[in-house]
Amino acid sequence: MGILIVDDSENTRALLEYYLKGAGYEDILHAETAPEAFSLLMMNDSSKIGLILMDISLPDINGIEACHHIKTMDHHKDTPIVMVTGRTDDTNLQLAFEAGAIDYLTKPINKIELLARIRSVLKLKHEMDSSKKIARQLEEANQKLKLLSSMDELTGIANRRQFNHVIDKEWRRSLRDNKPLSLIMLDIDCFKLYNDNYGHQAGDDCLKQVAHVLNTQARRPGDLVARYGGEEFSIVLPDTHSESATQYADRVRIAIDTLCIPHEYSKTSKHITISMGVATVIPNNNMTPDNLIKLSDDALYQSKQEGRNRIKVAKV
Ligand code: GH3
Ligand code: MG
Ligand code: MG
Repeated sequence: MGILIVDDSENTRALLEYYLKGAGYEDILHAETAPEAFSLLMMNDSSKIGLILMDISLPDINGIEACHHIKTMDHHKDTPIVMVTGRTDDTNLQLAFEAGAIDYLTKPINKIELLARIRSVLKLKHEMDSSKKIARQLEEANQKLKLLSSMDELTGIANRRQFNHVIDKEWRRSLRDNKPLSLIMLDIDCFKLYNDNYGHQAGDDCLKQVAHVLNTQARRPGDLVARYGGEEFSIVLPDTHSESATQYADRVRIAIDTLCIPHEYSKTSKHITISMGVATVIPNNNMTPDNLIKLSDDALYQSKQEGRNRIKVAKV
């Protein structure tokens, strides 16, 4: 990792380089002016220039202005800048720190001080880079966990936990906006017989196929398809009236029907079918999401009672 020396005095540059090379810093770059430093920085990212020694008094663009500019450069906004100054005038130093300098050295350069400062700045930079990397990894892990904790492992669609979260959120939104909220509960017909006859693995595959079809039928960004539990699924349809929700349910029922997953042992058909319950309410403060769930669950129960493979709409 290289060090860039920005100083208009050739003697100072030579002396700094001499000390730095003596301490094992091999990769030293020089600039006589701020613009020269900028072009070197543009050509070398922070993996090539890891630290800048910046003279405060430079011709035209001084070290403080240069520092300001470097802090706006994408690849170097985090590159540490150590100011080198002949004067220990407090105003200039304050301006340098405000501009983003991390430390300073006074001229005449003291070799021990120079090397100690550089070591501690590089150590600090290394620690900052590591903690940034760890923070990034943590953030990524958190995102993954969040996704996993809201997903059903078998089918890859939302799980019951995510359903609870979404129905609560949509309930509050509908209450605020005075909009209808629809919920469809659906259950695979005679699924125990399917499992008993085709095996649990086939049962799992069937659940995956059904979940996939349900998910592809969800068209609006706010719609949520979730596995409610076992072979029961739920679909939350925000801002959807009863008629639209029923049409939607019908599309879903037909889509599952057309999948034609053979089920010789079903009491309703020669292939997999579903029964559904649809309920719609405009939420008010005397109701909770549980009321809506109960309404669609009761409608689903009624579909089962009346012979399965059908849709029942809850009377509200
Ligand atoms: P109905 O038409 O009245 O809904 O009858 P059913 O047989 O579908 O309902 P029942 O509740 O009697 O049985 C549900 C079956 O679903 C029992 C269980 O073996 C099966 N099941 C639940 N979860 C899973 C799963 O994750 N994988 C598999 N393969 N089967 C499951
Ligand atoms: Mg069932
Ligand atoms: Mg069931």
